[in-house]
Amino acid sequence: GTPLLDVKDLHVEFATRDGTVRAVNGVSYAVDAGQTLAVLGESGSGKSVTAQAVMGILDIPPGRITGGRILFRGRDLLRASREERRAIRGEQMAMIFQDALSSLNPVHSVGIQLAEMFRVHRGMSRKDGKAKAVELMDRVRIPAARERVNDYPHQFSGGMRQRIMIAMALALEPALIIADEPTTALDVTVQAQVMDLLSELRREYRMGLILITHDLGVVADVADRIAVMYAGRIVEHAPVRDLYRSPAHPYTKGLLESVPRLDRKGKELYAIKGLPPNLLHVPPGCPFHPRCPLARDICVTDPPPLYEGMGEGRSSACHFWKETLGER
Ligand code: SF4
Ligand code: MG
Repeated sequence: GTPLLDVKDLHVEFATRDGTVRAVNGVSYAVDAGQTLAVLGESGSGKSVTAQAVMGILDIPPGRITGGRILFRGRDLLRASREERRAIRGEQMAMIFQDALSSLNPVHSVGIQLAEMFRVHRGMSRKDGKAKAVELMDRVRIPAARERVNDYPHQFSGGMRQRIMIAMALALEPALIIADEPTTALDVTVQAQVMDLLSELRREYRMGLILITHDLGVVADVADRIAVMYAGRIVEHAPVRDLYRSPAHPYTKGLLESVPRLDRKGKELYAIKGLPPNLLHVPPGCPFHPRCPLARDICVTDPPPLYEGMGEGRSSACHFWKETLGER
C-alpha cells in the first residue's frame, strides 16, 4: 500500500556567505503507520534538515528545497497549496524537539497550553480543554496530573517536561510524529523511560514515528528500521536487527563499535577517527573516504551509489559493502 510518508530523492540547499551548502543530497525514506524509523547521524549530517523539510518549516530562506518529493498519504506536500500544507502540518504531523523549555511557553501553565490546542483546533471551551489536558498528562504518565495541570514548565523536571512535549504532540492524534533528539538532554535512566513511552504511544495510536538521534544506543529497542546519514546522504538503510547484527557500511560499523557493550568489557572502544566533512567542501568520491579504514583509490574518485543485495530492505552506499558485511 501507500506509505504514510514517502520522501523521494530530497535535495535541500542553504545559501551561505561562503557558498552553497548541500545539506540534503538525494535522501529517500519511507515510514508506515505504526512504524518507527530511526534516522541516525552526527550533527550536520542532514537528519534534522530533512525532517524540517517534511514538516514544512524550511520555507524561510536561506533553506531551499531544490529537488525531490515528499508524499504524505500519497499527496505531494511540495506541490500542495499553502493552506493545505498548514492544515496537514497542524493536524496530522507533530514534532518534538530536544529542548522542551524553549518550546513551551514559560508564562503559561502547561494545562493552559494543552487546553489551547483543543480550543484552537477543536473549538472546545477552556474548561473542556483543561479536562482533556489532565487526561493527556495522565496518558504520558505525569504523576498527580490533576494537581499539576496549573503548574508552569519550569516547575517540572527535564523528563517530565519532555512528557509534556509528547502530550502536546499527541493532542490532535497526528498520524506522524517526528522526534528530533527527544531524550538527548536527559540522563540515561530517564532517556529510556521517555523512549519507552514514545514507543508505546506510537503502537497504541498506530502513528508513524521518525526518531532522529546521534546515539545508536537509544534506538535499538524501539526502531523498526534505521537510516544512517552522513554528509547529507543516507549511507546505510536497514531493518534495525540486521543493521546491528551485520552492518554493511564502514561508517555504521564504526558507530556500532563505539557503543559500549557489556560483552565487550575490556576491549578498547573503536571511535571513528576524524570529523565529518565541512559541507562546503565535501570530499570527492565517497564523502567518508578520509575517515574510512577500508578506503581505496576508487573511493576517492567514484561516489558509491546505494547498493542493494545485502538482504531484504537493505542498502549501503559503499563500494566494498560485501567485505564490510559480516558478523560483528
Ligand atoms: Fe569506505 Fe570506500 Fe566504502 Fe566509502 S566506498 S565507505 S571510502 S570503502
Ligand atoms: Mg539536529
